[in-house]
Amino acid sequence: MDRRAFLSLAAAGGAALALPPPALARAGPPVLERLNTDPTRIIRSGAGLRPFRAAGYVVRAERFSRRQTLVHHYGHGGAGVTMSWGTTAQAVETLERATSERRCAVIGSGVIGLTTGLELVRRGHEVTIYAEALPPYTTSNIAGAYWGIASLFRRTDVDEPFLERMRTAALRSHRAFQHLANDPRYGVYCVRAFDLYTRPPSDPLGAPDMAYLYPGFRRRAGPDAWWGHAGVDEFHQLMIDPDIYLRALTADFERAGGRIRMARFETTSDLSRLRERVIVNCTGMGARALFGDEALEPIRGQLTILLPQPGIDYAYTTSFEGASLYMFPRRGAIVLGGSHGRGDWSTDIDPVEQDRQLRGHAEMARRMAGEV
Ligand SMILES: Cc1cc2nc3c(=O)[nH]c(=O)nc-3n(C[C@H](O)[C@H](O)[C@H](O)COP(=O)(O)OP(=O)(O)OC[C@H]3O[C@@H](n4cnc5c(N)ncnc54)[C@H](O)[C@@H]3O)c2cc1C
Repeated sequence: MDRRAFLSLAAAGGAALALPPPALARAGPPVLERLNTDPTRIIRSGAGLRPFRAAGYVVRAERFSRRQTLVHHYGHGGAGVTMSWGTTAQAVETLERATSERRCAVIGSGVIGLTTGLELVRRGHEVTIYAEALPPYTTSNIAGAYWGIASLFRRTDVDEPFLERMRTAALRSHRAFQHLANDPRYGVYCVRAFDLYTRPPSDPLGAPDMAYLYPGFRRRAGPDAWWGHAGVDEFHQLMIDPDIYLRALTADFERAGGRIRMARFETTSDLSRLRERVIVNCTGMGARALFGDEALEPIRGQLTILLPQPGIDYAYTTSFEGASLYMFPRRGAIVLGGSHGRGDWSTDIDPVEQDRQLRGHAEMARRMAGEV
Protein backbone atom coordinates (compact mmCIF):
# COMPACT_ATOMS: atom_id res chain seq x y z
CA MET A 1 0.00 0.00 0.00
CA ASP A 2 1.59 3.27 -1.06
CA ARG A 3 0.58 6.07 1.25
CA ARG A 4 2.77 8.53 -0.63
CA ALA A 5 0.46 8.73 -3.64
CA PHE A 6 -2.23 10.05 -1.37
CA LEU A 7 0.06 12.35 0.55
CA SER A 8 1.56 14.01 -2.51
CA LEU A 9 -1.95 14.31 -3.87
CA ALA A 10 -3.02 16.02 -0.67
CA ALA A 11 -0.16 18.46 -1.11
CA ALA A 12 -1.17 19.04 -4.71
CA GLY A 13 -4.51 20.28 -3.43
CA GLY A 14 -2.81 23.56 -2.59
CA ALA A 15 -4.51 23.89 0.77
CA ALA A 16 -2.68 26.06 3.29
CA LEU A 17 -0.75 24.06 5.83
CA ALA A 18 -2.48 24.74 9.13
CA LEU A 19 -0.45 22.27 11.15
CA PRO A 20 3.14 22.54 12.32
CA PRO A 21 5.52 20.42 10.26
CA PRO A 22 5.91 16.94 11.74
CA ALA A 23 8.61 16.71 14.35
CA LEU A 24 11.62 14.66 13.33
CA ALA A 25 11.64 12.08 16.08
CA ARG A 26 14.86 10.76 17.61
CA ALA A 27 14.64 7.33 19.16
CA GLY A 28 16.05 3.88 18.56
CA PRO A 29 13.95 1.35 16.67
CA PRO A 30 11.28 -0.44 18.68
CA VAL A 31 11.67 -4.10 19.52
CA LEU A 32 9.14 -5.88 17.34
CA GLU A 33 8.09 -9.50 17.16
CA ARG A 34 10.07 -11.24 14.41
CA LEU A 35 7.93 -12.24 11.42
CA ASN A 36 8.30 -15.94 10.58
CA THR A 37 8.39 -16.28 6.79
CA ASP A 38 9.08 -19.99 6.64
CA PRO A 39 7.32 -21.32 3.49
CA THR A 40 5.65 -24.06 5.56
CA ARG A 41 3.55 -21.29 7.15
CA ILE A 42 1.80 -20.43 3.85
CA ILE A 43 -1.95 -21.01 4.13
CA ARG A 44 -2.77 -19.95 0.59
CA SER A 45 -1.88 -17.54 -2.21
CA GLY A 46 -4.25 -15.39 -4.21
CA ALA A 47 -4.15 -12.97 -7.11
CA GLY A 48 -6.71 -10.36 -8.12
CA LEU A 49 -7.21 -7.47 -10.52
CA ARG A 50 -7.48 -3.93 -9.15
CA PRO A 51 -10.06 -2.09 -11.34
CA PHE A 52 -7.90 0.92 -12.24
CA ARG A 53 -8.84 4.03 -14.24
CA ALA A 54 -6.16 6.67 -14.78
CA ALA A 55 -8.91 9.30 -14.66
CA GLY A 56 -10.19 7.95 -11.33
CA TYR A 57 -13.36 6.28 -10.11
CA VAL A 58 -16.69 6.91 -11.82
CA VAL A 59 -19.83 8.19 -10.08
CA ARG A 60 -22.30 9.39 -12.67
CA ALA A 61 -25.98 9.05 -13.62
CA GLU A 62 -27.38 8.67 -17.11
CA ARG A 63 -30.75 7.97 -18.68
CA PHE A 64 -30.57 4.31 -19.63
CA SER A 65 -33.88 3.91 -21.40
CA ARG A 66 -37.25 5.68 -21.32
CA ARG A 67 -38.03 3.62 -18.24
CA GLN A 68 -34.69 3.32 -16.42
CA THR A 69 -31.92 5.45 -14.89
CA LEU A 70 -28.40 4.07 -14.68
CA VAL A 71 -25.95 5.18 -11.99
CA HIS A 72 -22.31 4.17 -12.41
CA HIS A 73 -20.19 3.51 -9.34
CA TYR A 74 -16.98 1.67 -10.17
CA GLY A 75 -13.26 1.95 -10.96
CA HIS A 76 -11.73 2.11 -7.46
CA GLY A 77 -8.31 0.63 -8.36
CA GLY A 78 -6.31 -0.43 -5.32
CA ALA A 79 -8.46 1.55 -2.89
CA GLY A 80 -11.98 0.17 -3.21
CA VAL A 81 -12.35 -0.92 0.39
CA THR A 82 -10.71 2.30 1.60
CA MET A 83 -12.99 4.58 -0.41
CA SER A 84 -16.18 2.53 -0.23
CA TRP A 85 -18.22 4.59 2.25
CA GLY A 86 -17.19 7.92 0.77
CA THR A 87 -17.86 7.17 -2.89
CA THR A 88 -21.07 5.39 -1.88
CA ALA A 89 -22.31 8.61 -0.29
CA GLN A 90 -21.54 10.38 -3.57
CA ALA A 91 -23.28 7.68 -5.62
CA VAL A 92 -26.39 7.80 -3.45
CA GLU A 93 -26.53 11.60 -3.70
CA THR A 94 -26.14 11.33 -7.49
CA LEU A 95 -28.93 8.74 -7.68
CA GLU A 96 -31.34 10.74 -5.55
CA ARG A 97 -30.69 13.88 -7.58
CA ALA A 98 -31.30 11.99 -10.86
CA THR A 99 -34.54 10.17 -9.98
CA SER A 100 -37.21 9.85 -7.33
CA GLU A 101 -37.74 6.14 -8.13
CA ARG A 102 -37.24 3.99 -5.02
CA ARG A 103 -36.87 0.51 -6.51
CA CYS A 104 -33.18 -0.13 -7.25
CA ALA A 105 -31.13 -2.94 -8.76
CA VAL A 106 -27.49 -2.89 -7.68
CA ILE A 107 -25.27 -4.92 -9.98
CA GLY A 108 -22.30 -6.37 -8.12
CA SER A 109 -21.72 -7.76 -4.67
CA GLY A 110 -18.15 -6.70 -3.90
CA VAL A 111 -17.46 -4.02 -1.31
CA ILE A 112 -18.85 -1.30 -3.60
CA GLY A 113 -22.13 -3.07 -4.42
CA LEU A 114 -22.74 -4.15 -0.82
CA THR A 115 -21.99 -0.72 0.64
CA THR A 116 -24.17 0.97 -1.99
CA GLY A 117 -27.00 -1.52 -1.42
CA LEU A 118 -26.81 -1.10 2.34
CA GLU A 119 -26.81 2.69 2.22
CA LEU A 120 -29.75 2.73 -0.22
CA VAL A 121 -31.83 0.32 1.83
CA ARG A 122 -31.10 2.35 4.98
CA ARG A 123 -32.43 5.40 3.17
CA GLY A 124 -35.70 3.64 2.44
CA HIS A 125 -35.07 2.32 -1.08
CA GLU A 126 -36.21 -1.13 -2.10
CA VAL A 127 -32.99 -2.83 -3.19
CA THR A 128 -32.02 -6.07 -4.89
CA ILE A 129 -28.35 -6.85 -5.48
CA TYR A 130 -27.71 -8.97 -8.59
CA ALA A 131 -24.24 -10.45 -8.97
CA GLU A 132 -22.38 -13.22 -10.70
CA ALA A 133 -20.06 -13.76 -7.71
CA LEU A 134 -20.80 -13.25 -4.04
CA PRO A 135 -18.31 -13.02 -1.15
CA PRO A 136 -15.96 -14.78 -0.54
CA TYR A 137 -15.44 -15.07 -4.31
CA THR A 138 -15.07 -11.38 -5.26
CA THR A 139 -11.97 -9.25 -5.86
CA SER A 140 -12.92 -7.38 -2.71
CA ASN A 141 -12.16 -10.53 -0.70
CA ILE A 142 -8.61 -10.51 -2.12
CA ALA A 143 -7.91 -6.93 -0.98
CA GLY A 144 -5.14 -6.37 1.60
CA ALA A 145 -7.12 -4.42 2.99
CA TYR A 146 -5.24 -1.60 4.53
CA TRP A 147 -6.88 1.82 4.70
CA GLY A 148 -4.94 3.95 2.20
CA ILE A 149 -5.13 5.45 -1.26
CA ALA A 150 -3.17 3.40 -3.78
CA SER A 151 -3.51 2.96 -7.54
CA LEU A 152 -6.68 5.04 -7.59
CA PHE A 153 -5.80 7.49 -10.41
CA ARG A 154 -2.87 8.96 -12.34
CA ARG A 155 -2.06 12.52 -11.29
CA THR A 156 -1.72 13.78 -14.88
CA ASP A 157 -5.19 12.44 -15.78
CA VAL A 158 -7.28 14.07 -13.05
CA ASP A 159 -8.34 17.65 -12.43
CA GLU A 160 -8.72 19.62 -9.23
CA PRO A 161 -12.52 19.05 -8.90
CA PHE A 162 -11.91 15.30 -9.02
CA LEU A 163 -9.19 15.58 -6.35
CA GLU A 164 -11.52 17.59 -4.16
CA ARG A 165 -14.29 14.99 -4.51
CA MET A 166 -11.76 12.25 -3.84
CA ARG A 167 -10.51 13.94 -0.66
CA THR A 168 -14.07 14.45 0.57
CA ALA A 169 -14.84 10.78 -0.07
CA ALA A 170 -11.63 9.63 1.65
CA LEU A 171 -12.35 11.62 4.79
CA ARG A 172 -15.96 10.45 4.88
CA SER A 173 -14.92 6.84 4.43
CA HIS A 174 -12.22 6.98 7.10
CA ARG A 175 -14.78 8.37 9.53
CA ALA A 176 -17.22 5.57 8.73
CA PHE A 177 -14.58 2.89 9.31
CA GLN A 178 -13.62 4.45 12.63
CA HIS A 179 -17.17 3.81 13.82
CA LEU A 180 -16.82 0.14 12.85
CA ALA A 181 -13.40 -0.41 14.43
CA ASN A 182 -13.32 -2.47 17.60
CA ASP A 183 -16.71 -4.05 16.96
CA PRO A 184 -15.36 -7.56 16.32
CA ARG A 185 -18.31 -8.27 14.04
CA TYR A 186 -16.74 -6.08 11.29
CA GLY A 187 -13.07 -7.13 11.38
CA VAL A 188 -11.81 -3.51 11.38
CA TYR A 189 -8.75 -2.79 13.54
CA CYS A 190 -6.29 -0.01 14.17
CA VAL A 191 -2.64 -1.10 13.80
CA ARG A 192 0.76 0.49 14.25
CA ALA A 193 2.17 1.11 10.77
CA PHE A 194 5.60 1.90 9.33
CA ASP A 195 6.19 3.33 5.87
CA LEU A 196 9.85 2.70 4.98
CA TYR A 197 11.47 4.42 2.02
CA THR A 198 14.70 5.38 0.35
CA ARG A 199 13.40 8.60 -1.28
CA PRO A 200 11.45 10.91 1.05
CA PRO A 201 7.79 11.33 0.14
CA SER A 202 6.54 14.83 -0.56
CA ASP A 203 5.00 16.93 2.20
CA PRO A 204 3.21 14.33 4.34
CA LEU A 205 0.55 16.63 5.77
CA GLY A 206 0.04 18.81 2.74
CA ALA A 207 -3.66 19.40 3.32
CA PRO A 208 -4.68 20.49 6.78
CA ASP A 209 -7.67 18.21 7.12
CA MET A 210 -5.69 15.07 6.22
CA ALA A 211 -3.60 14.90 9.39
CA TYR A 212 -6.01 12.83 11.38
CA LEU A 213 -5.95 10.11 8.74
CA TYR A 214 -2.49 9.28 10.14
CA PRO A 215 -2.77 9.58 13.93
CA GLY A 216 0.45 9.50 15.88
CA PHE A 217 2.49 10.47 12.82
CA ARG A 218 6.28 10.60 13.40
CA ARG A 219 8.99 10.93 10.75
CA ARG A 220 12.50 9.66 11.15
CA ALA A 221 14.99 10.49 8.42
CA GLY A 222 18.72 10.25 7.70
CA PRO A 223 20.85 8.83 10.51
CA ASP A 224 17.79 8.62 12.77
CA ALA A 225 15.91 6.35 10.37
CA TRP A 226 15.57 2.69 11.21
CA TRP A 227 16.23 -0.66 9.59
CA GLY A 228 18.63 0.52 6.88
CA HIS A 229 16.16 2.90 5.22
CA ALA A 230 16.61 6.60 4.47
CA GLY A 231 13.32 7.39 6.12
CA VAL A 232 10.61 5.84 8.27
CA ASP A 233 7.16 7.29 8.82
CA GLU A 234 5.35 5.80 11.79
CA PHE A 235 1.63 6.27 12.45
CA HIS A 236 -1.52 4.26 13.16
CA GLN A 237 -3.86 3.04 10.46
CA LEU A 238 -7.06 1.07 9.99
CA MET A 239 -6.94 -2.49 8.68
CA ILE A 240 -10.01 -4.26 7.34
CA ASP A 241 -10.24 -8.04 7.16
CA PRO A 242 -12.38 -8.41 4.02
CA ASP A 243 -13.67 -11.90 4.74
CA ILE A 244 -15.12 -10.82 8.08
CA TYR A 245 -16.13 -7.38 6.84
CA LEU A 246 -17.98 -8.44 3.68
CA ARG A 247 -19.86 -11.12 5.62
CA ALA A 248 -20.97 -8.46 8.12
CA LEU A 249 -22.00 -6.06 5.33
CA THR A 250 -24.02 -8.81 3.64
CA ALA A 251 -25.77 -9.61 6.93
CA ASP A 252 -26.50 -5.92 7.61
CA PHE A 253 -27.90 -5.51 4.08
CA GLU A 254 -30.20 -8.53 4.35
CA ARG A 255 -31.27 -7.66 7.89
CA ALA A 256 -32.24 -4.19 6.67
CA GLY A 257 -34.53 -5.77 4.06
CA GLY A 258 -32.24 -6.00 1.00
CA ARG A 259 -32.34 -9.02 -1.31
CA ILE A 260 -29.47 -10.76 -3.11
CA ARG A 261 -29.87 -12.74 -6.34
CA MET A 262 -27.18 -14.46 -8.38
CA ALA A 263 -27.19 -13.36 -12.02
CA ARG A 264 -24.73 -12.70 -14.79
CA PHE A 265 -25.42 -9.95 -17.34
CA GLU A 266 -23.76 -10.41 -20.72
CA THR A 267 -24.97 -7.19 -22.31
CA THR A 268 -26.74 -4.00 -21.34
CA SER A 269 -29.95 -5.32 -22.94
CA ASP A 270 -29.98 -8.01 -20.24
CA LEU A 271 -30.09 -5.16 -17.74
CA SER A 272 -32.94 -3.40 -19.49
CA ARG A 273 -35.12 -6.44 -18.79
CA LEU A 274 -34.86 -5.87 -15.02
CA ARG A 275 -38.10 -4.65 -13.48
CA GLU A 276 -36.27 -2.02 -11.36
CA ARG A 277 -36.28 1.52 -12.73
CA VAL A 278 -32.93 2.40 -11.21
CA ILE A 279 -29.81 0.34 -11.94
CA VAL A 280 -26.55 0.95 -10.09
CA ASN A 281 -23.46 -0.37 -11.80
CA CYS A 282 -21.04 -1.66 -9.13
CA THR A 283 -19.38 -4.28 -11.31
CA GLY A 284 -15.74 -3.29 -10.67
CA MET A 285 -13.53 -4.70 -13.40
CA GLY A 286 -16.67 -6.17 -15.00
CA ALA A 287 -17.68 -2.68 -16.18
CA ARG A 288 -15.14 -2.91 -18.98
CA ALA A 289 -16.94 -5.78 -20.73
CA LEU A 290 -20.49 -4.90 -19.71
CA PHE A 291 -20.39 -1.15 -20.40
CA GLY A 292 -17.43 -0.98 -22.79
CA ASP A 293 -15.28 1.23 -20.58
CA GLU A 294 -11.88 0.66 -22.18
CA ALA A 295 -10.26 3.15 -19.81
CA LEU A 296 -10.67 0.52 -17.10
CA GLU A 297 -7.56 -1.63 -16.87
CA PRO A 298 -6.38 -4.30 -14.45
CA ILE A 299 -3.51 -3.85 -12.04
CA ARG A 300 -2.78 -7.37 -10.94
CA GLY A 301 -1.80 -8.01 -7.32
CA GLN A 302 -0.65 -11.22 -5.70
CA LEU A 303 -0.84 -12.04 -2.01
CA THR A 304 0.82 -14.72 0.09
CA ILE A 305 -1.20 -15.54 3.20
CA LEU A 306 0.66 -16.95 6.20
CA LEU A 307 -0.51 -18.51 9.44
CA PRO A 308 -1.33 -15.86 12.05
CA GLN A 309 1.42 -14.86 14.47
CA PRO A 310 -0.05 -13.41 17.68
CA GLY A 311 2.86 -10.99 18.37
CA ILE A 312 2.70 -9.43 14.90
CA ASP A 313 0.52 -6.41 15.58
CA TYR A 314 2.19 -3.95 13.21
CA ALA A 315 2.09 -3.33 9.44
CA TYR A 316 4.78 -2.04 7.12
CA THR A 317 5.32 -1.05 3.49
CA THR A 318 8.68 -0.96 1.80
CA SER A 319 10.25 -2.05 -1.49
CA PHE A 320 12.39 -4.99 -2.50
CA GLU A 321 14.04 -5.82 -5.82
CA GLY A 322 12.45 -2.84 -7.55
CA ALA A 323 8.84 -3.52 -6.50
CA SER A 324 6.80 -2.69 -3.44
CA LEU A 325 6.38 -5.03 -0.52
CA TYR A 326 3.91 -4.94 2.36
CA MET A 327 2.93 -6.93 5.42
CA PHE A 328 -0.47 -6.54 7.10
CA PRO A 329 -1.48 -8.42 10.24
CA ARG A 330 -4.92 -9.95 10.66
CA ARG A 331 -6.41 -11.86 13.55
CA GLY A 332 -6.50 -15.03 11.45
CA ALA A 333 -3.57 -14.52 9.06
CA ILE A 334 -0.55 -12.50 7.99
CA VAL A 335 -0.88 -10.90 4.54
CA LEU A 336 2.22 -10.44 2.38
CA GLY A 337 1.89 -8.53 -0.88
CA GLY A 338 3.03 -5.61 -2.96
CA SER A 339 2.97 -6.62 -6.65
CA HIS A 340 1.44 -4.26 -9.23
CA GLY A 341 1.12 -5.77 -12.72
CA ARG A 342 -0.50 -3.10 -14.86
CA GLY A 343 -2.41 -4.53 -17.81
CA ASP A 344 -1.84 -8.08 -16.57
CA TRP A 345 -5.10 -10.09 -16.68
CA SER A 346 -3.71 -13.29 -15.17
CA THR A 347 -4.97 -14.47 -11.80
CA ASP A 348 -2.64 -17.47 -11.77
CA ILE A 349 -0.09 -17.58 -8.98
CA ASP A 350 3.39 -16.57 -10.09
CA PRO A 351 5.94 -18.61 -8.05
CA VAL A 352 8.68 -16.05 -8.80
CA GLU A 353 6.62 -13.29 -7.18
CA GLN A 354 5.82 -15.51 -4.21
CA ASP A 355 9.54 -16.20 -3.77
CA ARG A 356 10.31 -12.45 -3.97
CA GLN A 357 7.77 -11.74 -1.25
CA LEU A 358 9.10 -14.43 1.09
CA ARG A 359 12.74 -13.38 0.61
CA GLY A 360 11.93 -9.69 0.91
CA HIS A 361 10.00 -10.14 4.15
CA ALA A 362 12.66 -12.49 5.55
CA GLU A 363 15.21 -9.71 4.94
CA MET A 364 12.90 -7.17 6.63
CA ALA A 365 12.35 -9.53 9.58
CA ARG A 366 16.13 -9.73 10.11
CA ARG A 367 16.46 -5.94 9.94
CA MET A 368 13.55 -5.29 12.26
CA ALA A 369 14.97 -7.79 14.73
CA GLY A 370 18.25 -5.81 14.67
CA GLU A 371 20.24 -8.65 13.08
CA VAL A 372 21.43 -6.67 10.00
C1 LIG B 1 -4.00 -7.89 -4.34
C2 LIG B 1 -4.95 -6.75 -4.04
C3 LIG B 1 -4.75 -5.98 -2.90
C4 LIG B 1 -5.62 -4.93 -2.63
N1 LIG B 1 -5.41 -4.22 -1.48
C5 LIG B 1 -6.28 -3.23 -1.16
C6 LIG B 1 -6.10 -2.52 0.06
O1 LIG B 1 -5.16 -2.76 0.83
N2 LIG B 1 -7.00 -1.54 0.35
C7 LIG B 1 -8.05 -1.25 -0.47
O2 LIG B 1 -8.83 -0.36 -0.16
N3 LIG B 1 -8.23 -1.91 -1.64
C8 LIG B 1 -7.36 -2.88 -2.00
N4 LIG B 1 -7.52 -3.56 -3.19
C9 LIG B 1 -8.52 -3.07 -4.16
C10 LIG B 1 -9.91 -3.59 -3.91
O3 LIG B 1 -9.89 -4.98 -3.81
C11 LIG B 1 -10.82 -3.15 -5.07
O4 LIG B 1 -10.72 -1.76 -5.28
C12 LIG B 1 -12.28 -3.49 -4.73
O5 LIG B 1 -12.38 -4.87 -4.47
C13 LIG B 1 -13.24 -3.12 -5.85
O6 LIG B 1 -14.52 -3.49 -5.39
P1 LIG B 1 -15.75 -3.67 -6.35
O7 LIG B 1 -16.92 -3.98 -5.50
O8 LIG B 1 -15.80 -2.52 -7.29
O9 LIG B 1 -15.36 -4.92 -7.27
P2 LIG B 1 -15.47 -6.50 -7.01
O10 LIG B 1 -15.09 -6.87 -5.64
O11 LIG B 1 -14.72 -7.12 -8.15
O12 LIG B 1 -17.01 -6.81 -7.20
C14 LIG B 1 -17.61 -6.76 -8.47
C15 LIG B 1 -18.96 -7.45 -8.40
O13 LIG B 1 -19.62 -7.28 -9.67
C16 LIG B 1 -20.02 -8.55 -10.15
N5 LIG B 1 -20.05 -8.50 -11.61
C17 LIG B 1 -19.07 -8.04 -12.45
N6 LIG B 1 -19.47 -8.17 -13.73
C18 LIG B 1 -20.73 -8.70 -13.71
C19 LIG B 1 -21.68 -9.07 -14.70
N7 LIG B 1 -21.42 -8.92 -16.00
N8 LIG B 1 -22.85 -9.60 -14.30
C20 LIG B 1 -23.13 -9.78 -12.99
N9 LIG B 1 -22.27 -9.45 -12.00
C21 LIG B 1 -21.09 -8.92 -12.36
C22 LIG B 1 -18.99 -9.50 -9.59
O14 LIG B 1 -19.49 -10.83 -9.63
C23 LIG B 1 -18.86 -8.95 -8.17
O15 LIG B 1 -19.93 -9.37 -7.37
C24 LIG B 1 -6.69 -4.62 -3.50
C25 LIG B 1 -6.89 -5.41 -4.63
C26 LIG B 1 -6.04 -6.46 -4.91
C27 LIG B 1 -6.29 -7.30 -6.13
